[in-house]
Amino acid sequence: MRISDYTIFVDLNQHSKGSQLLIHGYSGAFDLVPTELATTMKVLAGVSLTGDTLRDALGEGHIEVLKRRGYLTEWGPEEERAFFLRYIRQFHSYTKGNAPHFMIVPAYECNLRCPYCYQEDPGARHLQAKKGFELPDEATMRRVLDGVQALAREFTTERTRSHPSVTFYGGEPLLAKHRPIVEMCLEVLRFEPKVEFRAISNGTELDAYAGLLGPGGIQELQITLDGAASIHNRRRVTGKGEGTFDRIVKNVSFALQEGARINLRVNVDRSNLDSLPSLAVEIRRLGWCESTGFSAYLAPVQSNKNDTNQAMLLETRRFHASIEELGREHPDMGLFHFPNVGLKNQLLRLLQSGSDPAQSIFKPTFCGAHTVMFIIDFSGAIYACMERTNEPSARIGQLLPDGQFELFEGMLEYWRNRSVATTAPCSTCSYALFCGGGCAVKQPDTAGHCDDFQYRFDQAAADAWGDFSRGERASSWEGHSC
Ligand code: SF4
Ligand code: SF4
Repeated sequence: MRISDYTIFVDLNQHSKGSQLLIHGYSGAFDLVPTELATTMKVLAGVSLTGDTLRDALGEGHIEVLKRRGYLTEWGPEEERAFFLRYIRQFHSYTKGNAPHFMIVPAYECNLRCPYCYQEDPGARHLQAKKGFELPDEATMRRVLDGVQALAREFTTERTRSHPSVTFYGGEPLLAKHRPIVEMCLEVLRFEPKVEFRAISNGTELDAYAGLLGPGGIQELQITLDGAASIHNRRRVTGKGEGTFDRIVKNVSFALQEGARINLRVNVDRSNLDSLPSLAVEIRRLGWCESTGFSAYLAPVQSNKNDTNQAMLLETRRFHASIEELGREHPDMGLFHFPNVGLKNQLLRLLQSGSDPAQSIFKPTFCGAHTVMFIIDFSGAIYACMERTNEPSARIGQLLPDGQFELFEGMLEYWRNRSVATTAPCSTCSYALFCGGGCAVKQPDTAGHCDDFQYRFDQAAADAWGDFSRGERASSWEGHSC
C-alpha cells in the first residue's frame, strides 16, 4: 500500500486552522483532514507501507477511508499511472462525442490596430487580408455553408451530447460590411432549434447589426474595453490611431437592450492596471451590471508576438496578486471576474453539489482544439486552433466545391490527440484533470509550461473551501480558455 501519486494537499491558510484539504486527482474526492495526518502522508509519499507500519503511521481508523477515497492505493507507481492514462484516453474519446462547435471567420481583416494583437504576427498573416477584401459572392457563401452542414451531420449522431454552437470570429467578424455573411450564417446554420450563436467582436460596428442580436440571433458577445476612456483610446485604436471607447460603450448598451448577453473582456498589463478601478466605476455608472446578461472579466495580455513589449506583461502570479490587491482598495473591482474566480466558482459548486467531477470540472484537454472545435473561413479552410488560422500548413481539412469536406488525417490526429495523457509532464501530474494541460500554442510541451496552475489551483481550492464553510453561493461565471 502507498500514498497515491495523484493526491493534492491544499494548505487552508486562514480558512481552517489545524486542517488541510486533501483532493484526489482522479477519484475527485475532497476531504478535510487534520494537518498532522496530511503532513504524515506527504512524508510517506513514494514509500511502500504494510501492516503495522501503515497502521502506526496513519492510524487504524483512517486507513479504510483513505483507501476508499483514493488517497491510499495498492497499485505500484507504474500500475497507477497506466490506470490514469487509460482513464484519460477513455474520457478524451467521450468528450469527442459532444456536439461540434463551429467558429466561422467571415474575413481576417480588422478595423483596429491593438498593440498586443497576435494576429499581427507575420506568421499568422491575418491582417494581410485587409487590402482588397471583397465579400464572397452568394454562391461561394452557400457552398461553404453547405460544407459546414455536411461536417455538422458527420459529427452529430443520435448519441451526441449537448447542442452544436456557432461563434463568429476574425479579424473582426462584425464589421458592418459583413452583415450579409452573418445573416446568411444565422439562417443556414440553424441545424436545430437549440443551436447557440455567439461572437468575439471589438464592438465598434455593432450598431449595423440591429435585429440580429439577442434571442433568435447572436445571443452572446465577447467585447473588449481596455480601461477607462483615456487608457482604452491609446490601446484599441483604428488604423488612423483614433480611439474607440465611446463607440464601443454605445454599442454595448445597444446590444444589452437588444437582449444579447455581454461578456466584457479587459486585457490587462502593467500599463492599464491602475486604470481598472475607474473602468469599474464607469461600468457601474452605465448601469450594465443591472442587466442579468452582463459580466466582465480580466485577462492578462499574453506574449504572442515577437514585438509584444515583454516588460509590460504581468506574469500570472503577479497578475492575480495585483488584482486582489486592487480589489481590497476599490470595492467596485468586485464586478470583474478573473481566471481564479472562475476556478473557485467551479470548485465551490462541486463542494456544494457533491456531484461527480467527471461531469463538471474534470477535463482531459485544455480546449476545443483537441475535441470538437472546427474553425472555418470562406476559402473553405478548416482549422482546429484559434491562433493557427489562415496558416495553410495548420489546416485540418478543406471544404470542397461539391459541398462536402475532406479532413487531413495527420493534422487532425496532431490536434485532436493531444491530452494530458500525451504530454509528458502532465501524465504524472496530480492536477492534470483540473488543468487540462495548458494551451498547446502558448505553452510548449516541456516542463515549466504550467502557467502556475498548481499554485492557482491551491489558492482557488482554499478560497472555495472558505466560502463553502461560510455557506456562500458560487456565481455562474466559469472563465474562458482562449
Ligand atoms: S500543465 Fe502543469 S499543472 Fe497542468 S497538467 Fe500539465 S504539468 Fe500539471
Ligand atoms: S487555447 Fe491554445 S490550443 Fe486552444 S484554441 Fe486557444 S490558442 Fe489554440
